[in-house]
Amino acid sequence: INRSFSTSHPSLQPASPIDPLKSFRTTPLFINGKFVESITNNWIPVHNPANNELVTLIPETTPQELNDAAETAAEAFKSWRKSSILTRQRILLDLQLLIRENTDKIAKSITEEQGKTLADAKGDVLRGRQVVEHACGITNLLLGEQLAVSNDMDTYTIREPLGVTAGICPFNFPAMIPLWMFPLSIAAGNTMIIKPSERDPGAMMILAQLAKEAGVPDGVLNVVHGSVETVNFLCDNEHIKAISFVGSDKAGKYIHKRGTLNGKRVQANLGAKNHGVIMPDANKNHTLNQLAGAAFGAAGQRCMALSTVVFVGEAEEWLPELVERAKKLKVSGGFEPDVDVGPLISREAKGRVERLIQSGVEQGAKLVLDGRNPSVPKEYKNGNFVGPTILSKVTTEMDCYKEEIFGPVLVCLNVDTLDEAIDLINKNPYGNGTAIFTNSGSNARYFTNNIEAGQIGVNVPIPVPLPMFSFTGNRASIQGDINFYGKSGLQFYTQTKTVTSLWRHEDVNHTKSAVNMPT
Ligand code: NAD
Repeated sequence: INRSFSTSHPSLQPASPIDPLKSFRTTPLFINGKFVESITNNWIPVHNPANNELVTLIPETTPQELNDAAETAAEAFKSWRKSSILTRQRILLDLQLLIRENTDKIAKSITEEQGKTLADAKGDVLRGRQVVEHACGITNLLLGEQLAVSNDMDTYTIREPLGVTAGICPFNFPAMIPLWMFPLSIAAGNTMIIKPSERDPGAMMILAQLAKEAGVPDGVLNVVHGSVETVNFLCDNEHIKAISFVGSDKAGKYIHKRGTLNGKRVQANLGAKNHGVIMPDANKNHTLNQLAGAAFGAAGQRCMALSTVVFVGEAEEWLPELVERAKKLKVSGGFEPDVDVGPLISREAKGRVERLIQSGVEQGAKLVLDGRNPSVPKEYKNGNFVGPTILSKVTTEMDCYKEEIFGPVLVCLNVDTLDEAIDLINKNPYGNGTAIFTNSGSNARYFTNNIEAGQIGVNVPIPVPLPMFSFTGNRASIQGDINFYGKSGLQFYTQTKTVTSLWRHEDVNHTKSAVNMPT
């Protein structure tokens, strides 16, 4: 059955424990340029995190449907790879415009399904759109190299697409992270199958519709849904040559192993624990504002959230003011005006964050701001809210330090010197991002030279690189070695062919073959 993705399916009999008499909007698949209703019997409910009301049901895509997606992507690759690069550029130019025009629509879907504030959701769309804008420069980005080796010999390189690629996405950036993947992949001439997070697929469905409107041919971009079985299919299917994954450590390590064992390229961005070092010479107001924003924005559900503060020396004295700033942040549903902190993605996530806060208290940390059970308007009493929380006197043995909390919880540690701060951060297994706040150029330089993290901010709390650079997390925050977007992203989605040609003008008039390695 072909359906528009906004229609409901009144005859649906969901397998999950949901009132079967009630009809819900379902989220379709997008295969071969059509929005199609899955014939599955297994449906996954998506709830609005602000009130836990059901938003949509998404299908566990059936094996036949997954196969259809892979076959259609493989078939589409045959012609898409031959398309003119100017055609692809034109489509991307139109796509970025459509995304810009539909920012509000995408952002509303994000706030409804993911929970983040509407203003933050618009930022999610913007940061993704910037990757599309960068991909519009594909005509320059794909330029190869050429060298006239001698009078009659040339060597040149061509960057060619790989074939069918797959993207497996997390819940926390429902627009930005799919946009890290498919625009660059298809710009390079690949086709793609995207699996958005089963918790918030709506933004990707709108993006698929916009891609279709922009002229992406049928089969070039496909969207499938589901959880582990869908992921297993993407790791195993013979047509799929490369997998882009962003998400948790557990899923990422599994996908990296399974995908690479099957001979595929896999780039996997995993979890994080990002430290901010506060030097006593920093600009106090700027630092405290940035800290509170980066720790509690998006309810701490960003891989680049600054979730750990390391106060150096007397910078510790700023803690009470930090607490005051955190208290001022308004916790509520993401559509409310002036809201700062929305809900967590699920009841399980809320329970986990609350348990980690409690573990900190039990292991000796000081709870200087307790955001558990925040007061929210009555229409959100069933939502998954935790307000800004600050634990001080935290040590590296505590669970609240060792685990990625992924909630609005800031853990604070104290050291005496910058060297101790660097040592502490380098001992943490993660290497996604870090920041230093200081007015000393030499301290900043010393820090950037000696810290082992992929993305470093100097007086910038969330240094996510713009798309002309790449997202360069390192150590336990990444599996695989080719980063997302920018030059690395293009490298990931292409393989290089190197052609050496000899066009000799004179006739060859001897008959003895040369058997030595040509030099
Ligand atoms: P997640 O791992 O639960 O889900 C990500 C994807 O993996 C989903 O599509 C899901 O269906 C699939 N998946 C989940 N469990 C699986 C399993 N056992 N086997 C196979 N597939 C599985 O991650 P999440 O909770 O959606 O996202 C939050 C995590 O993502 C955090 O750890 C965060 O740090 C990380 N993240 C990292 C970056 C980065 O660039 N480093 C960016 C965003 C998010």
